[in-house]
Amino acid sequence: MRWNLPSDRVPEAWFNVTPHLPEPLQPPLHPATKEPVGPDDLAPLFPMALIGQEVSAEPWVDIPGEVLDILRLWRPTPLVRATRLEQALGTPARIYYKDESVSPAGSHKPNTAVPQAFYNKAEGVKRLSTETGAGQWGSALSFAGALFDIDVMVYMVRASYEQKPYRRILMETWGGRVVPSPVDDPSHPGSLGTAISDAVRDAATRDDTHYSLGSVLNHVLLHQTVIGQEAKEQLELAGERLPDVIIGCCGGGSNLGGLALPFVPDAGVRLVAVEPSSCPTLTGGRFDYDFGDTAGMTPLLPMYTLGHDFIPPPIHAGGLRYHGDSPIISNLVKAGRMEAVAYPQGKVFEAALQFARTQGTIPAPETAHAIRAVVDEALAAKEEGTERVILFGYSGHGLLDLQAYDDYLNDRLDA
Ligand SMILES: *Cc1c(COP(=O)(O)O)cnc(C)c1O
Repeated sequence: MRWNLPSDRVPEAWFNVTPHLPEPLQPPLHPATKEPVGPDDLAPLFPMALIGQEVSAEPWVDIPGEVLDILRLWRPTPLVRATRLEQALGTPARIYYKDESVSPAGSHKPNTAVPQAFYNKAEGVKRLSTETGAGQWGSALSFAGALFDIDVMVYMVRASYEQKPYRRILMETWGGRVVPSPVDDPSHPGSLGTAISDAVRDAATRDDTHYSLGSVLNHVLLHQTVIGQEAKEQLELAGERLPDVIIGCCGGGSNLGGLALPFVPDAGVRLVAVEPSSCPTLTGGRFDYDFGDTAGMTPLLPMYTLGHDFIPPPIHAGGLRYHGDSPIISNLVKAGRMEAVAYPQGKVFEAALQFARTQGTIPAPETAHAIRAVVDEALAAKEEGTERVILFGYSGHGLLDLQAYDDYLNDRLDA
């Protein structure tokens, strides 16, 4: 029911989906000139190696040995078949999940935090600034910063900073410094967009500091493709060929991209993005150039967006509260290669409990969005009386999100 790979099977190259996309990716634009941004525009924020990966058309990008050695602390991650959930649903579908919750930070995010810290260190950078919502990304980068002796400055969405102290403590344990965002307005609950503005401003105004983003950008999705490559190999060990459908929750698109992008060339595999109906970027947004942050400091990105001044309601899946989406994921959705669905919070927690009470582990509220869609897909298979293989991304555990479960169990959750 569980397929593990030995540590020498961590993929040694990242899979670049760019040559396989249905339409060419549009470039990011400079906000003032509306011309494509060049490497020099980005150099104050990112190391050249990552700028190169952002625009790379090479089909494979080698993973540095030092990065591989660190990934092997928890990779390859297990592929698990959710047979007890299948039985509870009475479905003929076979449900597999790729368990990224086993990383030190409890999610997929260290897969990119480690290479980002590595390339910054190689360029002599001593300090990184970043944003975090509920604290998943901030904790992953604080962990990576500790390994490479880089100071990490985290701007944490104020609502989470006040409600969820445990991830702040995690970040501080790994040596990160955490302040609530927006820094200039203590009455504002904040959003990922305001925190990105604070972090970019920090990096742009200091010579010793670069900026680091935990999702959305091409190089972040590239780093996450170890997930899907391992899953391909593990599905074969499980006696399956290709999955019929791949499902992942989608905030900025990195865990979904990491799992799904290596399957983009496999034409028959359906790809499904799941988002909250209170922040419906792919299902309710428009495809346009928009800023990545609230203050309008970043380049303009070609993506589905709800508008950069959209402040999502404070749902518990903090990692899914983003007004935009990865340009790669947006490209796939726009071309019809990927589907998108949205669910309200109550339906999501109903599925999370069903998972916890059959498989045992407690998913992150973000992950529970994927589980909701998996349950519906498995029930559809039952209705039609057809087998199908479902693969989903278990992006993180919910053990630091128990307030959300308490709210659900005691009817305090906004639908
Ligand atoms: C951050 C996060 C997400 C959302 O981010 P993506 O870039 O869309 O993957 C989903 N799940 C977990 C557990 C997260 O920490």
